[in-house]
Amino acid sequence: MQVPVSLINSLEGIDGFDRHAFEQTHANAEAITSIRINPAKPSRLFDGSLNELTPVPWSRYGYYLPQRPSFTFDPLFHAGCYYVQEASSMFLEKAFEKIPQQDGPLKVLDLSAAPGGKSTHIQSLLPEGSLLVSNEVIKSRSSILRDNIIRWGSANVMVTNNDPAHFQSLEGFFDVIVVDAPCSGSGLFRREPEAIIEWSENAVQLCSQRQQRILADVWPALREGGTLIYSTCSFSPEEDEAILDWMQEEWQVKGIALEVPEHSGIVTTLSKNGLPGYRFWPHKVKGEGFFLTMVEKQDGVQGFAGKLRKKPDSVTKAEQKLLEPWIDMTDMSTVRHQQTVYAWPSPLAADFSLLLEKMRVVYSGVRLGELMRDKLVPDHALALSGLLRPAVPAASLDKDAAILYLQRRDFTAETAGRGWQTVNFQGYPLGWINALPNRINNYYPRELRILKDSPNS
Ligand code: SAM
Repeated sequence: MQVPVSLINSLEGIDGFDRHAFEQTHANAEAITSIRINPAKPSRLFDGSLNELTPVPWSRYGYYLPQRPSFTFDPLFHAGCYYVQEASSMFLEKAFEKIPQQDGPLKVLDLSAAPGGKSTHIQSLLPEGSLLVSNEVIKSRSSILRDNIIRWGSANVMVTNNDPAHFQSLEGFFDVIVVDAPCSGSGLFRREPEAIIEWSENAVQLCSQRQQRILADVWPALREGGTLIYSTCSFSPEEDEAILDWMQEEWQVKGIALEVPEHSGIVTTLSKNGLPGYRFWPHKVKGEGFFLTMVEKQDGVQGFAGKLRKKPDSVTKAEQKLLEPWIDMTDMSTVRHQQTVYAWPSPLAADFSLLLEKMRVVYSGVRLGELMRDKLVPDHALALSGLLRPAVPAASLDKDAAILYLQRRDFTAETAGRGWQTVNFQGYPLGWINALPNRINNYYPRELRILKDSPNS
């Protein structure tokens, strides 16, 4: 792997950079695999070997794996028990530790969120009652984001598909905005050597300008006193520390220092104006190249002043009765769009309604299902959420049957009587089946099914 010489030359003098070690680590291209567990779905991962794994020093939920298993053929992956995520990115957790939580729930925007690594992580870090808007500007990528949010199983997330500028209609709405910016990608060269071909000094300049545009577009949506977390997977200072200096020239910001675990190898750098940023050099940390910084906003409005105009449709009392046997509706509200019913956390219903009015919403809360002729046809998302009542029937599958189910193939299993039921692996629902007298109808979503043949078949 030949890292562009002009990139290497541009890194000379930056704290922590060591030309020889940097080149060496790219020549060796060690493959590092890490996962982050879902605390809402604690499970016996990798046959119970979690305790023997090395933790990622900057995340309570992150672990390194000694080798890369086949995640595709692990049903717990499909159940949303963990997310496969590059370790350096998990440093986001240290930024969230610095956000004052005593003031109660937070309104958070993850602006460039697909495929959902940061959003699922943020979801695990937020105080009770918080709202997460997980946005992705590219439509096809917003569907992948939605699928990962559904798998994670949380009800307080709204997935949107908006341009950063659209958030200007929500002036002062958010307490925290995360911008994991599109960048020139040099930090991921070890994993994606083909990205080297796309890299050029010109691309770095274009990315830097785009990052400024994105930040300028979304800045009004952050309230005064709110927090901006900015990150890239680029080594280039034009996309990292120089962006901090640009922010300080444009707005009133205060840099926030984060706690760096001892001996972790993370390097604190200072922008020209003295604001701190955190660099992950692959020759110093067990992870890929990454940069993260956090600032407090000291200008702008103190909060959102707009009003909600129209509430979405709700379900009737009779329809509510249909939902009761399936769903624990404590603190949840139901809304409907045509025949589709969604559950929203009641304390967030006004915020969700406002966002529905102003944004292009791809998904919100938990999709419960379709109301059809006095029946609920349950949705896949309901199975993966924490809202199902324990009394809803479930069939337990062994690993082979679970894989066949996830491939949408025929499988045999002891069902929990007839009718709708979830299929569970090690206690975690994978999706729905409808057991008929002579066959099992598999309702795993076609677009999510495993296409590969199982290694054991
Ligand atoms: N945060 C994601 C995660 O942790 O899984 C990774 C985000 S990736 C580094 C950057 C994202 O920015 C991509 O999903 C890309 O589609 C999106 N993006 C591209 N152009 C953008 C723009 N002009 N404004 C905002 N986001 C953009």
